[in-house]
Amino acid sequence: MADWRKKARRKAQEREDKARRTQEEEVRRRELRERRASERELAKKVARLGRKFKCHICGVSSKEPARWTTTSWSYSDFPPGGSRSDVDHVDYDKPGDLFECNDCGRLTCSDCMEAGMCRKCAEGGILWRWFRVG
Ligand SMILES: [Zn+2]
Ligand SMILES: [Zn+2]
Repeated sequence: MADWRKKARRKAQEREDKARRTQEEEVRRRELRERRASERELAKKVARLGRKFKCHICGVSSKEPARWTTTSWSYSDFPPGGSRSDVDHVDYDKPGDLFECNDCGRLTCSDCMEAGMCRKCAEGGILWRWFRVG
């Protein structure tokens, strides 16, 4: 092959590589932008969750949304049996790290709760408040 043909091919190849790199770079940048946007959105949701839900004893804000998984089975004759699919759910309108006291029903963090009962209820309900006031 003549030299100039090799040169032409090499140049064409370089140009192609460069175009591909630019394209990849563009995709990476876009992904980063989208990830940052969704992180900001998430932080906003967590902040809202924290403002809305607090432990009624120590006042700590909720930082974790409620998460749960549901499993559904789909049955079919072919292929025989069924297929299992797990779906993850996240609810930013429910706290995942605060729990309702079994006695008073108010939101309580795990530090202020024992055996499903908040500290106030464990220490005698309303009396607890009298001791704390002042
Ligand atoms: Zn607490
Ligand atoms: Zn309670």
